[in-house]
Amino acid sequence: MRIHDTIAGVRAALKTAGRIVFVPTMGNLHEGHIALMRQARQHGDCVVASIFVNRLQFRPGEDFEKYPRTLDADCKKLVAADVDYLFAPDETELYPEPQRYVVEPPVEHATILEGEFRPGHFCGVATVVMKLFGIIQPQAALFGKKDYQQFMVLSAMVREFALPIDIIPGETVRAADGLALSSRNGYLSAAERAEAPRLQQILSRMVAAVRAGQRDFPALEATAQTELEVHGWAPDYVAVRRRLDLQFPAADDTEFVVLAAARLGTTRLIDNLEI
Ligand code: AMP
Repeated sequence: MRIHDTIAGVRAALKTAGRIVFVPTMGNLHEGHIALMRQARQHGDCVVASIFVNRLQFRPGEDFEKYPRTLDADCKKLVAADVDYLFAPDETELYPEPQRYVVEPPVEHATILEGEFRPGHFCGVATVVMKLFGIIQPQAALFGKKDYQQFMVLSAMVREFALPIDIIPGETVRAADGLALSSRNGYLSAAERAEAPRLQQILSRMVAAVRAGQRDFPALEATAQTELEVHGWAPDYVAVRRRLDLQFPAADDTEFVVLAAARLGTTRLIDNLEI
C-alpha cells in the first residue's frame, strides 16, 4: 500500500490508476471499515482509502480533540485488506486556509434527526467529501449504512451536482451481541459496553412490530425512548421514517427505517435498522 499525505502526491500517483473506488474514513479502523474496503475491491481496479478527522463536522464541545488517532494500527489493517492507496493528509494540507466555500445540504436533510442535535454536521461532512472527491476523483465511493442519514445526504449531493461517481452502500457490521461497530464504542466503560446492545435490541423490536402491522409510529417511538431512559440512556431521538428521504412516513409508504441516537454516560451512539 502506498501512503500519501499531500494532494499533489496522491493526484500524481492516481493518474494511471484505472477505475478508482474510494472509501473515506476518520480512522481508528474496525471491521465495519474493513468490510467497506473489501467490498470496494469488487467495484474497480484501485481501492483508495482516506483517513482524516474532519474538524468541520464536529460541534464545539464534541469529541474532535479526543477522537482516537491510530494511524499505525490502521495502516496494518488496510494492508491486510489489500487497499492500494491511503490518503492521510493533516489539517494544514486539507485546510491550508479557512474553508469558506462549503456544501450546504438542504434544511429538510440537514436539520432533522442527526442534524437537529448536531447543527452544521452535514455541512461539514458534505464539504470534506466534496473536497476529497475533487482530490481523489473516484469513479465510485462507498459509505456505510450505519450512518444512514449521511448516506442519504451524500447520495443526494452527488445526484444534484451530477458528479460522475457511483455511491455504493455498505451493510452495518455488528459485534456478536448486536452492537454496531463504531470508533466511539472505545469510549464505553465495561458496564456501558454490556448495556450498549440494548439500542439495537429495541430497534429490532420496533422492526418486528411494524412488520406485524403496527402503524402508530409515535407510540412505538415513545415506548422505545422510555425503555432507553429506564436503563440509563439519554436518547436524542428514536424515529420511524421512510427510507427514501427520511421524512415522516406517508400513508402509502412501504419502506421504512428506524433510527436512533442516544447517550450512554458521555458516549453518544447511533444505530438504525431498515424495515
Ligand atoms: P467514520 O470513520 O466513522 O467516518 O466511518 C467511515 C465509513 O465507515 C462511513 O461510510 C461509515 O458509515 C462506515 N462505517 C462506520 N461504522 C460502520 C459499521 N459498523 N458498519 C459498516 N460501515 C461502517
